[in-house]
Amino acid sequence: MIGLWRREIGIFLLLATVTSIIGGVTGLFFPLTCALLLAVLMRQIFQINRFERWISMGARGSYPKTRGIWEEIYYGVYRIKKNEKRRKKKLGKMVDQFRQSTEALPDAAVVLGAYDEIEWSNKAAREVLGLQTSDKGQRIPNLVRFPEFIRYLKSGNYQEDIILPSPVDSRITLSVRIVSYGAGLRLLLAQDVTQLKQMERMRKDFVANVSHELRTPLTVLKGYLETLQDLDDGTSPLLTGSLEQMRGQTERMQHLVDDLLLLARLETQKKKSQCVNVPALLNQICREGGDFDKSARHIELSLATEENIFGDEQELRSAFTNLLENAIKYSPDDTEVKVRWYRNGEAVVLEVEDFGEGIAPADIPRVTERFYRSEVKRNRKVAGTGLGLAIVKHVLMRHDARLAIASELGKGSRFSCHFPLNRVCS
Ligand code: ADP
Repeated sequence: MIGLWRREIGIFLLLATVTSIIGGVTGLFFPLTCALLLAVLMRQIFQINRFERWISMGARGSYPKTRGIWEEIYYGVYRIKKNEKRRKKKLGKMVDQFRQSTEALPDAAVVLGAYDEIEWSNKAAREVLGLQTSDKGQRIPNLVRFPEFIRYLKSGNYQEDIILPSPVDSRITLSVRIVSYGAGLRLLLAQDVTQLKQMERMRKDFVANVSHELRTPLTVLKGYLETLQDLDDGTSPLLTGSLEQMRGQTERMQHLVDDLLLLARLETQKKKSQCVNVPALLNQICREGGDFDKSARHIELSLATEENIFGDEQELRSAFTNLLENAIKYSPDDTEVKVRWYRNGEAVVLEVEDFGEGIAPADIPRVTERFYRSEVKRNRKVAGTGLGLAIVKHVLMRHDARLAIASELGKGSRFSCHFPLNRVCS
């Protein structure tokens, strides 16, 4: 390029020198210099005009024949244009492939704009959400009209999915999730979870039915065992011991069945809500806790607030009782158990604290799992089903509350239930 410029300037200088010499000899220096400058100017105007016409026609095809620096300019533009064309083709192919793969996705996908308008949807979205290709630009709340969906869409909190029936066929259950990306864009994903939900329902029904069916034979067994114990005159230590063990195991099984039934009810029953007088409930539970505990342990109840909360009294009673019974079960007889009801910044809190054996750090995240009991307790034969904290967790979930566990081995444990302030009632 620099070489070409030098050549261009060289030619001009040569022409200027020749013109000056001829001008000097003939005495026509000024008119000849003007003629040279005019000629150079005309040539450049002609080239610019030709270049402009070529560009305005889209710089398509081969460029006009020319030489020198102008040929280089034409060639540069021609090359940029060609590369751009190649890139565009490649990009178009990629977009096509992406479109085809998202069309083939088994899950519904819809791209939503800043005003909830549909920007794009795939085939599955048209099938399970009933959207049409012509719905592009329409706001999705006008097409998928479930109040729960509209609330979810408006909330802006898309951390969890919601479960909805399909607007096309109510027998299809969808798990809907929104993912935010880019500037104000959102991707709505809907997955068909009908089979999964059906299996879950079958499992819940099975557990509930089996527990229910076991109740009657257990009551009969327990009744006969009590009669046999009454009849036992103590002459055979083997018989007395066996009867006592049988009674203990039937009682354990009865607790298990009761806990399983309660869990099944928590999973399937509709929520009931009334204003529950928590201070009164805690007073009662602590009194009953004293009866449950055979030792002379001190249960200290502190009511720092008089707040009541919306919820189901029965459910809250079983959750709080479970926490208190655990505190009593897993701490020595001569230690205190503290129950507190107080309000902090963003929640009302029920706290049950004991100074017992505590929970190992590795066990803390697992103690709310069904049937999870840490090995130490199994060996020590502390009675329990391993379902108590699972019940607590479920009850709290149904009350929009969360459970926090702080514990240290050998020092004690603190279980806190945090209820959001919108649950407070007078
Ligand atoms: P269960 O008490 O019937 O075994 P839970 O679900 O109530 O079942 O508790 C699960 C496990 O959590 C218990 O087996 C015990 O290991 C541990 N745990 C619960 N509460 C306490 C507590 N206050 N102190 C120490 N360990 C506890």
